[in-house]
Amino acid sequence: MNLLSFHLAVLRAAVAFGVLPVAATATAVDAPALPGPSAPAMSARASIDLSRYFATREAALAELDALQREVDGWHPDASTTFAAVFDAADALARRARRVSAYVDILAARDLDDAAATQARNRVDALGDQLARSLDDALRVRPLAAFDTAAAGDARLARYRHLATDAAARAAHALPPDAAKLADAAIEPLLRDAWTIHQRVERLPLQGQADGAGDAKAADRATREAAWRRRWQATQARAEVDATLLLGIARTRRALAQARGFADAPSAGYVERGLDRVTVERSLADVRAHLALYGRYHALRAQRIRAATGIDDVRPWDLDAGSDTSPHFTLADVRTIAPAALAPLGRDYVRAFSALLSADAHRLDLADVLGRREAGGFSVSAPGTPAGLYVAAFGGTLGDLRVMLHEGGHAIAAQIADDAGTPSLLAHGPNGLVESYALLNEFLLYDHLARHARTPAERERYLVALVDDMVFQVFGSAEEATLEQTIHDEAAAGRVRSAADLDRVTTSVRSAFEPWPADVLHASSSWWATKRLYYQDPFYLVNYLYAGVIAINLYAEAKAHPATFATRYHALLARGYDAPTETLLAPMLGDGVALDALGTRAFEVIGAKLDAIDAVRQPLH
Ligand SMILES: [Zn+2]
Repeated sequence: MNLLSFHLAVLRAAVAFGVLPVAATATAVDAPALPGPSAPAMSARASIDLSRYFATREAALAELDALQREVDGWHPDASTTFAAVFDAADALARRARRVSAYVDILAARDLDDAAATQARNRVDALGDQLARSLDDALRVRPLAAFDTAAAGDARLARYRHLATDAAARAAHALPPDAAKLADAAIEPLLRDAWTIHQRVERLPLQGQADGAGDAKAADRATREAAWRRRWQATQARAEVDATLLLGIARTRRALAQARGFADAPSAGYVERGLDRVTVERSLADVRAHLALYGRYHALRAQRIRAATGIDDVRPWDLDAGSDTSPHFTLADVRTIAPAALAPLGRDYVRAFSALLSADAHRLDLADVLGRREAGGFSVSAPGTPAGLYVAAFGGTLGDLRVMLHEGGHAIAAQIADDAGTPSLLAHGPNGLVESYALLNEFLLYDHLARHARTPAERERYLVALVDDMVFQVFGSAEEATLEQTIHDEAAAGRVRSAADLDRVTTSVRSAFEPWPADVLHASSSWWATKRLYYQDPFYLVNYLYAGVIAINLYAEAKAHPATFATRYHALLARGYDAPTETLLAPMLGDGVALDALGTRAFEVIGAKLDAIDAVRQPLH
């Protein structure tokens, strides 16, 4: 856990070499910097007023130094009360968020600003250190003692969830010497594996496609050849990637077992507030609904067939025949966002409009990427209105999506801050955190579909909505299933090479995807392209939960519009002071279980597919 990781992750690109449609793509935070879309005539440029956080860069860096000294020296002894421990940790976390907001923006504005990047890394490390020190302080204090102290102290009682989590982590802590070794030697090596993967990915390989060429315009043979060249390039790197990934699996397994877990996935899921039994049930639930995924694929193929006359649609055809993309200005965003987010209530909409307002200086965006960091994120610190960073706004639907997604994180944080929620409770399980941002995406597409001027336009946005939902649920489940399989098979000694990884990949994919064997075979190094397998193992499954929760929230907003906004605002305001199921109970009903939320999600996806069919009918 990092108390400061308020979300620099991750709008995942939904494109895996034409396995999913480009329509669902947004700029991925973790993607290599690519040239932005050609700048439209209007100029979209805005800058966050950083003096709200610190008067000068020097002042921010001086505060970072001071904070580092205080965190270094913070080791509450056994006589310190629980209230004093949490108060001190929260005060440090508040200050760290302010420094983090400042240096995050500074570093993102200019990739060449090495000092800002270094400061950002220092703040991240400081957040980790603070979380560890808090864990250390809580480890020596029994949970029963917390309950005694918290009886009659409502403020302290809000931290019970953190105390419980800390106790659970303590049960799986490495012995101090091993922990030091892991910090000093093993964790850096795991980070290096991620770095090496990224470097290898960018190596120019002979014969590799240059990425240029318009997938919509090119003829079919050209598209196929480009697709095959991309996969051949991936294949050429596969031995290196296999060495990295199998090394990660071996190391994670050893670390997990040293901490008393059966295997690497079990440890990875617990670190994300999940557990292996729940995850397995959820993945099985998705597999039981693969007919729905098949229906989605069939509908997509049918759309392409209707537009192009191609009978046997293949991955390289997925962008063929798509209609011209819509274009939005920043002024459009300022009109569309409040209308789309209206179901979230007047207060939410007012806060979102204020964030986007031209004279608020809370937006940081450019019309071209330049040296800016790709993607988007939000910053927030108690007492200062939240800010939104977007690398480049080119006016595509994907850009609009990024604004509503990342803006959603900004407003969620601000509502909690405005309610006086402690910074220690401002971040929670990634699945839940991301669900709030995804809900905004769904409401965006839903709004655009309902206000479409033509059936074709309505279809386009319904397809964008269903692409998004399907990708979060089925795409994430597929990727998470493969990740777990790779770790399990490697542990059993059945996966030892790139060829073995290709084999298990094809086996998992053939259960999920409708492509014929030769297509799956030609792209069998699919595993090598899953960046999170290297960057943040076992993170992917969070997107499944985020998707499923967001679809449930979306359905609830539709079903009970009169009461939804008030309940949703209360949910955001309280922060993350309880397990996910407890937090969601006022929204989705008592006794909700994460692995039971799928039922409604599958119904919603089915209904959206019906809606697309209904729009399409008059065309035939
Ligand atoms: Zn997000």
